[in-house]
Amino acid sequence: MTQLLENFHFVQQSVAQAALDAGRDPATVRLLAVSKTFPAEDVQEVFLAGQKCFGENRVQELTEKGKVLSREIEWHLIGHLQQNKVRAALEFASWIHAVDTPELLHRIEAISAELSVHPKLLLEVNISGEESKFGLTPDAALELAKSLPADAPAPLTGLMTMAPLEAPEEQLHRIFGGLRQLRDRIQEIRGTALPELSMGMSGDYRVAIQEGATIVRIGTAIFGHRDYAHA
Ligand SMILES: *Cc1c(COP(=O)(O)O)cnc(C)c1O
Repeated sequence: MTQLLENFHFVQQSVAQAALDAGRDPATVRLLAVSKTFPAEDVQEVFLAGQKCFGENRVQELTEKGKVLSREIEWHLIGHLQQNKVRAALEFASWIHAVDTPELLHRIEAISAELSVHPKLLLEVNISGEESKFGLTPDAALELAKSLPADAPAPLTGLMTMAPLEAPEEQLHRIFGGLRQLRDRIQEIRGTALPELSMGMSGDYRVAIQEGATIVRIGTAIFGHRDYAHA
Protein backbone atom coordinates (compact mmCIF):
# COMPACT_ATOMS: atom_id res chain seq x y z
CA MET A 1 0.00 0.00 0.00
CA THR A 2 1.23 3.53 -0.76
CA GLN A 3 2.00 5.99 2.01
CA LEU A 4 -0.92 8.12 0.80
CA LEU A 5 -3.43 5.30 1.19
CA GLU A 6 -1.97 4.32 4.55
CA ASN A 7 -2.40 7.90 5.74
CA PHE A 8 -5.93 8.03 4.35
CA HIS A 9 -7.04 4.84 6.07
CA PHE A 10 -5.38 5.92 9.31
CA VAL A 11 -7.22 9.28 9.24
CA GLN A 12 -10.54 7.61 8.36
CA GLN A 13 -10.19 5.34 11.38
CA SER A 14 -9.00 8.11 13.70
CA VAL A 15 -11.95 10.31 12.77
CA ALA A 16 -14.37 7.44 13.40
CA GLN A 17 -12.63 6.63 16.68
CA ALA A 18 -12.76 10.28 17.79
CA ALA A 19 -16.52 10.23 17.16
CA LEU A 20 -16.95 7.03 19.20
CA ASP A 21 -14.81 8.47 22.01
CA ALA A 22 -17.09 11.51 22.04
CA GLY A 23 -20.15 9.27 22.27
CA ARG A 24 -21.20 10.08 18.72
CA ASP A 25 -22.18 7.96 15.74
CA PRO A 26 -19.19 8.02 13.33
CA ALA A 27 -21.66 8.39 10.44
CA THR A 28 -22.44 11.91 11.68
CA VAL A 29 -18.89 13.14 11.06
CA ARG A 30 -17.94 13.63 7.43
CA LEU A 31 -14.30 13.54 6.43
CA LEU A 32 -13.40 16.21 3.86
CA ALA A 33 -10.04 15.42 2.26
CA VAL A 34 -8.28 18.74 1.62
CA SER A 35 -6.24 18.23 -1.53
CA LYS A 36 -4.97 21.78 -2.18
CA THR A 37 -1.47 21.90 -3.68
CA PHE A 38 -1.50 18.14 -4.35
CA PRO A 39 -1.85 16.78 -7.88
CA ALA A 40 -4.98 15.31 -9.41
CA GLU A 41 -3.32 11.85 -9.36
CA ASP A 42 -3.30 11.94 -5.56
CA VAL A 43 -6.97 12.87 -5.47
CA GLN A 44 -7.72 10.04 -7.89
CA GLU A 45 -5.92 7.53 -5.70
CA VAL A 46 -7.86 8.53 -2.59
CA PHE A 47 -11.11 8.71 -4.58
CA LEU A 48 -10.61 5.14 -5.79
CA ALA A 49 -10.13 4.10 -2.16
CA GLY A 50 -13.66 5.31 -1.44
CA GLN A 51 -13.36 9.01 -0.57
CA LYS A 52 -16.00 11.15 -2.31
CA CYS A 53 -15.60 14.63 -0.78
CA PHE A 54 -12.56 16.78 -1.47
CA GLY A 55 -11.76 20.33 -0.44
CA GLU A 56 -9.85 22.98 -2.36
CA ASN A 57 -9.16 26.55 -1.33
CA ARG A 58 -8.50 28.20 -4.69
CA VAL A 59 -10.96 28.36 -7.57
CA GLN A 60 -8.35 27.93 -10.27
CA GLU A 61 -6.97 24.78 -8.73
CA LEU A 62 -10.48 23.46 -8.15
CA THR A 63 -11.29 24.00 -11.83
CA GLU A 64 -8.10 22.31 -13.02
CA LYS A 65 -8.79 19.21 -10.94
CA GLY A 66 -12.53 19.23 -11.50
CA LYS A 67 -12.03 19.12 -15.27
CA VAL A 68 -9.84 16.01 -15.26
CA LEU A 69 -11.37 14.01 -12.40
CA SER A 70 -14.57 12.04 -11.93
CA ARG A 71 -17.86 13.91 -11.90
CA GLU A 72 -18.77 11.77 -8.88
CA ILE A 73 -16.41 13.77 -6.69
CA GLU A 74 -18.18 16.21 -4.40
CA TRP A 75 -16.05 19.37 -4.36
CA HIS A 76 -16.05 21.74 -1.41
CA LEU A 77 -14.54 25.19 -1.80
CA ILE A 78 -13.12 25.93 1.64
CA GLY A 79 -10.99 29.02 1.00
CA HIS A 80 -11.77 32.70 0.77
CA LEU A 81 -13.84 33.37 -2.34
CA GLN A 82 -13.63 36.58 -4.34
CA GLN A 83 -16.86 37.87 -5.81
CA ASN A 84 -15.54 37.82 -9.37
CA LYS A 85 -14.81 34.09 -9.07
CA VAL A 86 -18.23 32.93 -7.91
CA ARG A 87 -19.36 31.86 -11.37
CA ALA A 88 -16.22 29.80 -11.94
CA ALA A 89 -16.43 28.30 -8.46
CA LEU A 90 -19.98 27.09 -9.05
CA GLU A 91 -18.94 25.06 -12.06
CA PHE A 92 -17.51 22.42 -9.73
CA ALA A 93 -18.13 23.34 -6.10
CA SER A 94 -21.35 22.05 -4.60
CA TRP A 95 -20.39 23.34 -1.16
CA ILE A 96 -18.94 26.74 -0.24
CA HIS A 97 -17.55 26.88 3.30
CA ALA A 98 -16.25 30.40 3.62
CA VAL A 99 -19.08 32.84 2.95
CA ASP A 100 -17.82 35.83 4.89
CA THR A 101 -19.63 38.96 3.66
CA PRO A 102 -23.24 39.88 2.80
CA GLU A 103 -22.06 40.92 -0.68
CA LEU A 104 -20.54 37.52 -1.37
CA LEU A 105 -23.65 35.75 -0.13
CA HIS A 106 -25.89 37.84 -2.38
CA ARG A 107 -23.64 37.27 -5.36
CA ILE A 108 -23.67 33.49 -4.81
CA GLU A 109 -27.46 33.57 -4.50
CA ALA A 110 -27.88 35.58 -7.69
CA ILE A 111 -25.59 33.39 -9.77
CA SER A 112 -27.05 30.19 -8.32
CA ALA A 113 -30.51 31.36 -9.37
CA GLU A 114 -29.26 32.20 -12.83
CA LEU A 115 -27.51 28.84 -13.27
CA SER A 116 -30.21 26.83 -11.47
CA VAL A 117 -27.67 25.31 -9.10
CA HIS A 118 -28.11 24.83 -5.37
CA PRO A 119 -24.73 24.85 -3.64
CA LYS A 120 -24.75 24.37 0.10
CA LEU A 121 -23.41 27.39 1.96
CA LEU A 122 -21.68 27.80 5.27
CA LEU A 123 -20.95 31.13 6.93
CA GLU A 124 -17.36 31.51 8.06
CA VAL A 125 -17.29 32.87 11.58
CA ASN A 126 -14.32 34.28 13.44
CA ILE A 127 -15.25 33.12 16.93
CA SER A 128 -12.07 34.06 18.74
CA GLY A 129 -11.94 37.55 17.23
CA GLU A 130 -8.20 37.24 16.72
CA GLU A 131 -5.57 36.11 14.23
CA SER A 132 -7.83 35.24 11.29
CA LYS A 133 -8.26 37.98 8.74
CA PHE A 134 -11.46 36.48 7.35
CA GLY A 135 -14.74 35.52 8.89
CA LEU A 136 -17.86 37.24 10.18
CA THR A 137 -18.25 38.24 13.79
CA PRO A 138 -20.84 36.07 15.58
CA ASP A 139 -23.31 38.99 15.55
CA ALA A 140 -22.79 39.64 11.85
CA ALA A 141 -23.29 35.93 11.11
CA LEU A 142 -26.55 35.96 13.04
CA GLU A 143 -27.81 39.03 11.18
CA LEU A 144 -26.83 37.61 7.81
CA ALA A 145 -28.44 34.25 8.55
CA LYS A 146 -31.65 35.99 9.62
CA SER A 147 -31.75 37.95 6.37
CA LEU A 148 -31.60 34.93 4.12
CA PRO A 149 -34.93 33.26 3.30
CA ALA A 150 -35.12 29.52 3.99
CA ASP A 151 -35.94 28.86 0.33
CA ALA A 152 -32.99 30.75 -1.15
CA PRO A 153 -31.48 29.08 -4.26
CA ALA A 154 -28.27 28.31 -2.37
CA PRO A 155 -29.38 27.08 1.04
CA LEU A 156 -27.59 28.07 4.21
CA THR A 157 -26.67 24.75 5.81
CA GLY A 158 -24.18 25.58 8.53
CA LEU A 159 -21.23 27.43 9.96
CA MET A 160 -17.48 27.09 9.52
CA THR A 161 -14.55 28.27 11.58
CA MET A 162 -10.79 27.98 11.77
CA ALA A 163 -8.91 27.92 15.05
CA PRO A 164 -5.52 29.61 15.31
CA LEU A 165 -2.62 27.23 14.68
CA GLU A 166 -1.13 25.82 17.86
CA ALA A 167 -4.04 27.01 19.99
CA PRO A 168 -4.06 25.30 23.38
CA GLU A 169 -6.78 22.72 23.93
CA GLU A 170 -8.99 24.86 26.17
CA GLN A 171 -9.00 27.61 23.56
CA LEU A 172 -9.99 25.04 20.92
CA HIS A 173 -12.91 23.97 23.10
CA ARG A 174 -13.95 27.60 23.49
CA ILE A 175 -13.81 28.26 19.75
CA PHE A 176 -15.46 25.07 18.53
CA GLY A 177 -17.99 25.04 21.37
CA GLY A 178 -18.69 28.69 20.61
CA LEU A 179 -19.45 27.91 16.98
CA ARG A 180 -21.87 25.18 18.04
CA GLN A 181 -23.67 27.51 20.46
CA LEU A 182 -23.94 30.22 17.81
CA ARG A 183 -25.38 27.62 15.43
CA ASP A 184 -27.96 26.62 18.05
CA ARG A 185 -28.92 30.25 18.58
CA ILE A 186 -29.28 30.95 14.86
CA GLN A 187 -31.40 27.82 14.44
CA GLU A 188 -33.69 28.93 17.21
CA ILE A 189 -34.09 32.48 15.94
CA ARG A 190 -34.40 31.52 12.30
CA GLY A 191 -36.61 28.51 12.92
CA THR A 192 -34.83 26.35 10.34
CA ALA A 193 -32.21 23.68 10.77
CA LEU A 194 -28.57 24.56 10.31
CA PRO A 195 -27.08 21.08 10.59
CA GLU A 196 -23.49 21.48 9.47
CA LEU A 197 -20.53 22.52 11.60
CA SER A 198 -17.35 22.59 9.51
CA MET A 199 -14.54 22.72 12.05
CA GLY A 200 -11.36 20.83 12.77
CA MET A 201 -8.19 20.32 10.70
CA SER A 202 -5.25 17.91 10.93
CA GLY A 203 -4.04 19.29 14.26
CA ASP A 204 -7.32 19.83 16.07
CA TYR A 205 -10.06 17.59 14.67
CA ARG A 206 -10.43 15.47 17.81
CA VAL A 207 -11.47 18.50 19.87
CA ALA A 208 -13.74 19.70 17.04
CA ILE A 209 -15.49 16.33 16.99
CA GLN A 210 -15.98 16.47 20.76
CA GLU A 211 -17.64 19.84 20.24
CA GLY A 212 -19.98 18.62 17.50
CA ALA A 213 -18.18 18.97 14.16
CA THR A 214 -20.10 17.37 11.29
CA ILE A 215 -17.35 18.06 8.72
CA VAL A 216 -13.64 17.89 9.50
CA ARG A 217 -11.32 19.37 6.84
CA ILE A 218 -8.13 17.37 6.79
CA GLY A 219 -5.21 17.94 4.44
CA THR A 220 -1.75 17.37 5.89
CA ALA A 221 -2.57 14.20 7.81
CA ILE A 222 -3.72 12.57 4.55
CA PHE A 223 -1.62 14.10 1.76
CA GLY A 224 1.49 15.18 3.69
CA HIS A 225 3.11 18.56 4.09
CA ARG A 226 2.32 21.17 1.47
CA ASP A 227 5.02 22.74 -0.63
CA TYR A 228 3.58 26.10 -1.61
CA ALA A 229 6.59 26.91 -3.77
CA HIS A 230 5.37 24.34 -6.28
CA ALA A 231 1.65 24.97 -5.88
C1 LIG B 1 -5.66 23.91 4.19
C2 LIG B 1 -6.94 23.99 4.93
C3 LIG B 1 -7.37 22.94 5.76
C4 LIG B 1 -6.54 21.69 5.99
O1 LIG B 1 -5.53 21.94 6.92
P1 LIG B 1 -4.53 20.78 7.42
O2 LIG B 1 -3.93 21.35 8.64
O3 LIG B 1 -3.57 20.53 6.32
O4 LIG B 1 -5.36 19.58 7.72
C5 LIG B 1 -8.59 23.08 6.38
N1 LIG B 1 -9.36 24.17 6.21
C6 LIG B 1 -9.00 25.19 5.43
C7 LIG B 1 -9.89 26.37 5.29
C8 LIG B 1 -7.78 25.14 4.76
O5 LIG B 1 -7.42 26.17 3.98
